[in-house]
Amino acid sequence: MFVARKGDPIVCPNGHIGGHVERDILPSETLKPRGDFSITITNAGNHTSEGHSCAQCPERITRYSNGVYQIRTARGWIGHLS
Ligand SMILES: [Zn+2]
Repeated sequence: MFVARKGDPIVCPNGHIGGHVERDILPSETLKPRGDFSITITNAGNHTSEGHSCAQCPERITRYSNGVYQIRTARGWIGHLS
C-alpha cells in the first residue's frame, strides 16, 4: 500500500509516461471520472470501456471498472475498485 503524490507520473510497465497525478491519492480512495478528477492523461493510446492504454505499447495505464478508475504509477496500481 502506498500513497500516490501530486506530480507522480502515470506510467506503463515499460516506463512510458502517460500523464501525472494532480493531488495526493490514498490507497483506499475511489477515483471517479467526473467531479473530483485527480489525474491528467497527456499521452495515452486508446480509451475504451476498460480504461486507457499506453500511447507507445499495448500495456494499460488506467483501468476502468464499475464507474471508478485505477491508475498505474511507478510503484503500482492505485485507486480502490468498487
Ligand atoms: Zn508503454
